[in-house]
Amino acid sequence: MRSASPSDRAAPRSVDILIAGAGVMGAATAYWLSRHDPALSILLVERDPAFTHASSSLSASSIRQQFTTPVNIALSAFGIAFLREASSGSGHSNWSGPAIELGLTEPGYLYLATPEQEAGLRAAHEIQRANNAAVALLSRAALNERFPWLSTDGLALGSLGLSGEGWFDGPALHRALLGRARAEGTTLAAAEVTGIELDQRPGADSARVATVRLSNGEHVQCGQFVNAAGPWSGAIAAMAGIDLPVVASRRTVFVLSCPSPLAGCPLLIDPSGFWLRPEGRYLITGCPPLDVSDNLPLDPDWRELDHAAWERLARRIPSLEAMRVERAWAGYYEMNRFDHNAIIGPHPAISNFWMICGFSGHGMQHAPGAGLALSEWMLEGAPRTIDVRALGYTRLERGERLPELNVIG
Ligand SMILES: Cc1cc2nc3c(=O)[nH]c(=O)nc-3n(C[C@H](O)[C@H](O)[C@H](O)COP(=O)(O)OP(=O)(O)OC[C@H]3O[C@@H](n4cnc5c(N)ncnc54)[C@H](O)[C@@H]3O)c2cc1C
Repeated sequence: MRSASPSDRAAPRSVDILIAGAGVMGAATAYWLSRHDPALSILLVERDPAFTHASSSLSASSIRQQFTTPVNIALSAFGIAFLREASSGSGHSNWSGPAIELGLTEPGYLYLATPEQEAGLRAAHEIQRANNAAVALLSRAALNERFPWLSTDGLALGSLGLSGEGWFDGPALHRALLGRARAEGTTLAAAEVTGIELDQRPGADSARVATVRLSNGEHVQCGQFVNAAGPWSGAIAAMAGIDLPVVASRRTVFVLSCPSPLAGCPLLIDPSGFWLRPEGRYLITGCPPLDVSDNLPLDPDWRELDHAAWERLARRIPSLEAMRVERAWAGYYEMNRFDHNAIIGPHPAISNFWMICGFSGHGMQHAPGAGLALSEWMLEGAPRTIDVRALGYTRLERGERLPELNVIG
């Protein structure tokens, strides 16, 4: 990922929009805002301009339609259309730049269910079909026929995505969105947001973000403020006195090699908890973390690939008996502890404080649609292309959860 160059201008004193965090969410928001209104002055503030700790650099970058929340399915439908357009370079309805080398491949996701999980898988399937996702339920016999390397012992059913599911080069998408936003005039400042000053006029219903303090000593006035700080969004919100239950929750990804190829291998989600997919000539896998504490150091937790985990993998894919662990990395899910779903939109009591965070491990695929929805909401008063209002902050105030049941690992 490209670092901020010395030629990046110093932060101006007053901007139309200041975005905290230049990961894929901040970049997508800036991309759409500058596309809608090139006259806007937009400042992206990023404290880690090489993105060494950003989720956007450490993601598994996969895309699926198999969610249980209709708004997530809509964001994924937009996501796949955007990725296809951006990688083909054809059409300019969504992507205004040259074709991006995204390595987009669509072998599907395969959710596997035991007899106890079968009813849940069928219920999710109904939601997905009702929302136009191309998914099919496969019996054990159909699974055996289609994936001869898979052991179906203990399984009742599988759900396979037939279109619009697979994986891509997430950092390339992030880089391209950031590059286009900057080409359209967005300024990137290599600095940390350290404080937010609010302005509460006597008699006004709501407060406003007036000034944002940066680690380089600048005080920047902004018309609108966007919290796109990923796993650190809770800390940014706290600077404005907002309670936002988004935390940094570590996930480890292991890279495996397997001597026998797994023909047509989709992204597989096993009832025992692990996920696995091909990555070039390797496989990558992960599982729910053993240590669920927040803000753990970004060191892989090797205990997650212990003997029992190895056995679970080999039970489902017998040829993995001969697998080798090549390496591992760790990244943070930006986990919304309230209901594992994104928070997009304005804060009700601080009228110019906007949020695009809390995607809980599925944000890379949703960034193009989420950034578009937020930009429309900010500039036109409502999200027009994808109605993301169900993901607004007010649900937290009302205590009404919008649970996403298909959160992976
Ligand atoms: C292991 C793993 C696997 C994943 N797999 C998938 C997947 O398969 N599919 C999918 O769609 N998603 C996946 N995700 C999730 C996806 O990567 C994230 O949802 C997405 O990258 C979030 O982007 P972001 O811009 O919100 O956060 P980030 O990329 O973390 O960006 C936030 C930025 O804010 C900056 N920042 C924070 N605080 C401040 C501050 N005070 N001042 C200035 N800058 C600040 C940070 O430095 C950071 O660069 C995965 C994530 C992980 C970790």
